[in-house]
Amino acid sequence: MRWPPEFGKVSMMLEDGFSRRFHYLRLSLTEACNFRCTYCLPDGYKPDGRKSFLTLEEIRRVSSTFAQLGVQKIRLTGGEPSMRRDLPAIIETVSQTNGIESVAMTTNGYRLKERAKIWYDAGLRDLNVSVDSLDARQFQLITGENKLASILEGIDIAQQVGYRKIKVNTVLLKNLNDHELSQFLFWLRNQPIELRFIELMQTGEMDERFKKHHQSGLPIKARLLREGWVQQNRGLTDGPAEVFSHPDYLGKIGLIMPYSKDFCSNCNRLRVSSTGKLHLCLFGEQGINLREYLQNDAQSSELKKQILSGLSSKRETHFLHQGDTGITPHLASIGG
Ligand code: SAM
Ligand code: SF4
Repeated sequence: MRWPPEFGKVSMMLEDGFSRRFHYLRLSLTEACNFRCTYCLPDGYKPDGRKSFLTLEEIRRVSSTFAQLGVQKIRLTGGEPSMRRDLPAIIETVSQTNGIESVAMTTNGYRLKERAKIWYDAGLRDLNVSVDSLDARQFQLITGENKLASILEGIDIAQQVGYRKIKVNTVLLKNLNDHELSQFLFWLRNQPIELRFIELMQTGEMDERFKKHHQSGLPIKARLLREGWVQQNRGLTDGPAEVFSHPDYLGKIGLIMPYSKDFCSNCNRLRVSSTGKLHLCLFGEQGINLREYLQNDAQSSELKKQILSGLSSKRETHFLHQGDTGITPHLASIGG
């Protein structure tokens, strides 16, 4: 595709100035959350004035416009997406969008037990559940909630309901859960789940916590390779994880290492925040306000223009290594 794009002349697709193509959108539904994860909202969610989150109609326009630009997969995230009362209607709307082949959601699992079937019936097929420890006390220490048993039960129910893919997200935290690798591996022997260890990312509101708890995923990778795990190839709409499988295990292990070399060269995802801002990267920019172009269907071509010209300013890499966390106060604010 020529750069910059010629609107209306060529079939538009999302490609940036570094030949990266974008088929995957993360759409945040809310900033609110009912957990207090130490690395995200340690003091709980504090509403910042009277923010209004995207309405169902605005969400429909986001999903159909991005689909027309070649996005095939949309992940609903937050904050905690299950705090939206209209979540089933949102799932249904996004999953019925022409061109969207896969709707996924990332949740803390708080409501999974009761809602797994409702969400599935609405069209959700892929689920990521955050589980930072398999030890109930550590789980509570990290998330502020004594909910491990209920969340694991929710995962069992989701498996029975028939979800296509269930993944578990675990933020790697030195001295809080990094001693649990063997326990997680044991769990995965008979669980057809991909568990992804995510390296802790530094955000604007993180003080000493980052230094205290950041743990590289590389020692885990070395151990997996030593123990016969094999790294898999990556698909078009796959997330950022390096994924490993082993013949003796039903489950898989993924490693998300944003500080590793070349992490950004594989970037295939864009984000729209719950207030309608396009974020080209998790870190380091203000976001491009799309909301004014989401007010009626007739604005669709203007909306596409904004998205495509915004994409031309996507940077080649984040600057986390230099300690530049941009303005992202915490991941709940733009959808992790
Ligand atoms: N509330 C939902 C949840 O926790 O699954 C969805 C939103 S949350 C921001 C999305 C993912 O980002 C979660 O798996 C969470 O553990 C992860 N996350 C949040 N803050 C992070 C940080 N500073 N570094 C790495 N991962 C983080
Ligand atoms: Fe809430 Fe998810 Fe942030 Fe934890 S990581 S505080 S569950 S938004």
